Amino acid sequence: MYKYKLHIIMIIILISFIFGACSAQRPEIKTMAESGVMDLTRVKLENSVVRLDGQWEFFWNQLIAPGKAETKSSNEYIQIPSSWNKYKGNEDQSGYGYATYRLQFITAENIKLGLKIPRMFTAYKLWVNGELIAIAGKVGENREIMTPQYIPQLALFESSQGVNEILIQVSNFHHRSGGMPKSINLGGEKQIIKLRDKSLAAELIIFGSLIYIGAYHLALFLFRKKNTSSLYFGLFCLLVGMRTLLVGERFFMYLFPNFSWEIAHKLQTLSFYFGVPLILLFFMSIYPQYFHARIIKIGQIIGAIFGFLVVLTPARIFTPFNPIYQMWTVFTIIYIIVALIKIWIRKEDGSWFITIGALVLLMSGANDIIFLNIWMNDNGPAFLKALIRTGSLSSVGQLVFAFANSLLLSKRFSDSLAREEILTAELTEINSNLDELVSQRTKDLEKSKEKIEQQKLELEKINKNLNQLSFKDCLTGIWNRRKYDETIEIEWRRCLRYKRPIALILLDIDYFKQFNDLYGHMAGDECLIKIGDTLKKSLSRSSDMAARYGGEEFIVLLPDSGKEEAIKIATMLRINIESIKIPHEKSSVSNYVTVSIGVTSTIPNNKSSYDDLFKVVDRALYQAKDAGRNQIKYLSQ
Ligand code: GH3
Ligand code: MG
Ligand code: MG
Repeated sequence: MYKYKLHIIMIIILISFIFGACSAQRPEIKTMAESGVMDLTRVKLENSVVRLDGQWEFFWNQLIAPGKAETKSSNEYIQIPSSWNKYKGNEDQSGYGYATYRLQFITAENIKLGLKIPRMFTAYKLWVNGELIAIAGKVGENREIMTPQYIPQLALFESSQGVNEILIQVSNFHHRSGGMPKSINLGGEKQIIKLRDKSLAAELIIFGSLIYIGAYHLALFLFRKKNTSSLYFGLFCLLVGMRTLLVGERFFMYLFPNFSWEIAHKLQTLSFYFGVPLILLFFMSIYPQYFHARIIKIGQIIGAIFGFLVVLTPARIFTPFNPIYQMWTVFTIIYIIVALIKIWIRKEDGSWFITIGALVLLMSGANDIIFLNIWMNDNGPAFLKALIRTGSLSSVGQLVFAFANSLLLSKRFSDSLAREEILTAELTEINSNLDELVSQRTKDLEKSKEKIEQQKLELEKINKNLNQLSFKDCLTGIWNRRKYDETIEIEWRRCLRYKRPIALILLDIDYFKQFNDLYGHMAGDECLIKIGDTLKKSLSRSSDMAARYGGEEFIVLLPDSGKEEAIKIATMLRINIESIKIPHEKSSVSNYVTVSIGVTSTIPNNKSSYDDLFKVVDRALYQAKDAGRNQIKYLSQ
């Protein structure tokens, strides 16, 4: 919907501009002069405008003053509008020379009339009925005397009923074409003023708009140097805007009537020569893939060469080269149109605006080239002449183009803003989701951390138990040899430090092999469990410890115990074991299971070790065995 609205606006603007521009310049009535006479008796001049085209009386190489022409009829005629280059009396066909034109027109009444006189090549003096009413530059018979000036103007006069005479002296030694290549318009005073005012107003609107659009785009470029398309486009608009004042109604010449013809002509030509490379650069900058960098370069070089030519040489030297540049321009127009068609087909972003705008520009540019081309005026095909009636379409075209580009740029601008908004929205959503996500993750992490800590606690517990387990003898449930080894080391050092005694008791079951053989291994195990139990229960001090040393041997560690204490405990242990009364029929010393016991004690010093102490207690145990078993033997170190 949005897109279609824009399309409709574009079309309306386009049509209104083109029609407005054309109608402003188009006189209503066609009558042709024949043999220097135009009959306007049947035309209501007050309300109409007539083109004074047709056969004018022509005096080549003569400057005839008013009043003299009647006596000096030339019987030579020239078709107006046209340059005099092709006039058959002009042998070298050059534009240089001077001549007098005369037209008689017949009106039915006395009426206030106006002439709209275009620029002439390149100076003129115009009389109506002997009265000098318009002058541009200074007419002369050679370059030194004459001064060129382009100035379209209005001249007002009152016609007399019957025959009226327009006499124009023209001279040219500055431009390659000379004479009167554009039509003079005659009409009622009000009509002619209206005609001029309309086209002037249109030109000033175009001028203002182009300068504004140009300045705007230059500002865009200044704020964003990457934006070279804005630079080229802004420069192009300014150039074309300034040119608008130099062509058409030449408002510039109203402002500065004494401005040098040469410089004005140079400026006008330069605006054309620099406009072409600028427009190429512009297209290159917005659709780089559709334009060859080399052609753009060539365009710049050609523009620069012709620019230099214009700056350095006078108009009579550089104007003959103009058709070459016009040909180059026609080539670039075709080149750009081909590229635009490709862009259009591939539906590139904004191609709609650009293609329409550029087509208007290029076609109006082509129109003006053809119109301003005086050769075309003199020799061109009639249908083209009929088609192309005005030479200032390109200003309108340039404005349409500028407007289309502004539309494109504003579309790109708002598109990128819209994109940014979408991105921001997406980002915000992601951000808010992120918050949620992060808090969710944090919660999960906290949960798993709790879990891990719990597991860690459990593991520590298990580990502790495992540790405990590894210190316990799995059969009897009392300490094992590892625990004994660890404890003896600690206790030995402590007793060494405090010079306290330490005692060991080593027990071995008597004839246990026979017990196993007789009652079986299971019963043997039972017996071991019972003895372990008895040992544990028999020891009352917390520092005393009993451990299974291996097989059917047990060891008891008594820190802070001397010989007496140790023998006492050992005796108590032997009695306690025997008193559980585990039957042992094969024992030679008793009916029950008995143990032989080795005892030792010492006060640790730096020379002795607990290994040595164990060797002593082991020897004591052997002595107890040797002495007949079921008894205690004490050995000191
Ligand atoms: P002595 O009076 O000279 O000590 O004779 P003994 O038979 O007790 O001595 P010996 O060293 O010849 O035999 C030890 C036996 O103890 C051998 C083995 O069958 C038994 N034994 C060692 N450990 C275990 C055990 O864990 N369970 C059982 N059921 N028997 C064991
Ligand atoms: Mg043994
Ligand atoms: Mg034994």
